Amino acid sequence: MATLSFRGVQKSYVSGTGARRGSGEGVTHVLHRVDLEVGDGEFIALVGPSGCGKSTLLRCVAGLEEISAGDLHIGPRRVNDIAPKDRDVAMVFQSYALYPHLSVKENMAFALRLQRHPETESRVAEAAEMLGLTPLLARLPKELSGGQRQRVAMGRAIVRRPSVFLFDEPLSNLDAALRQQMRVELRRRHQLLRTTTLYVTHDQVEALTLADRIVVLNAGVVQQVGTPDELYFDPANRFVAGFIGSPTMNFVEHVPGCVRGEVVGVRPNDVEVGSGEIVATVEFVERLGFEAMVHLRVGEETLMARVEGEAPSPGAKVGVRFSRSYRFEKATGARVREPA
Ligand code: ADP
Repeated sequence: MATLSFRGVQKSYVSGTGARRGSGEGVTHVLHRVDLEVGDGEFIALVGPSGCGKSTLLRCVAGLEEISAGDLHIGPRRVNDIAPKDRDVAMVFQSYALYPHLSVKENMAFALRLQRHPETESRVAEAAEMLGLTPLLARLPKELSGGQRQRVAMGRAIVRRPSVFLFDEPLSNLDAALRQQMRVELRRRHQLLRTTTLYVTHDQVEALTLADRIVVLNAGVVQQVGTPDELYFDPANRFVAGFIGSPTMNFVEHVPGCVRGEVVGVRPNDVEVGSGEIVATVEFVERLGFEAMVHLRVGEETLMARVEGEAPSPGAKVGVRFSRSYRFEKATGARVREPA
């Protein structure tokens, strides 16, 4: 196991042909001065919109990309110039990247066989047992289901007993039910192995349920690092507030109590419908079994409220109050904190 440390890590790409002249042009900055300390045995999820640099950050740790500036340490070792195979990390890809012509057993044993590792047999047997793959060891990848392939990809990483696991959206090819099952398995396995883990996902539910801490990235800039509860209940800025939590936070500017130059954020769970000084009209109601999403209009703005049990009818005028809300600067998105 090992700690991971990013100090001022940057990644830029310089485009070759077609780069325009002039300073800065032709250079894409993908990661901007990333500072992050990951504790030994910690499970960190990296989340953010598509293209924000999550995979790039992971690939920098794996050594598949060279960093452009800063220092990257795995344990006490600065690994900027260390070859991928010598970094003691194991990566699990979205595509699983299994060898199609090798059996499950041979896929799992592959890396250790290359090293002529004396424990190859026993480690493969142990990992197969842990992952429920023992009866499938002789099969080829094409004879497995998606979930089983995902387990083989995990097994291949586990047998190496690396200092760090790197996961790049490992569950995104699975259907919803299997994803949920694999989430539980991943968490359980992490509690058992306690290997330092970086896990890239665009699925915030995965991040919230799996990770000890979550890193929210936007356009290559770390927006906030915190526990799932910190990000949900105490977002640093409007971006994090809008990104974490489902259904998404409402943002309004013109309801009573809003300050000029600020935006108020309120989660649908925190919009109480019934009485309150805000007068809203019910536009429509989405029934979701026991609960309902009530779409409300307040002047020119809309608000979503999550209501349990009976919901008001479309067209009704209702009073609304916020049980919890957040204030953000309109211009910068920075959180405006109430004076202590
Ligand atoms: P994510 O994993 O968050 O979806 P990526 O890390 O894959 O994002 O990509 C981040 C950004 O870096 C994207 O805008 C992508 O176009 C850019 N990028 C990735 N690889 C290269 C490359 N080889 N050359 C130029 N730009 C790249």
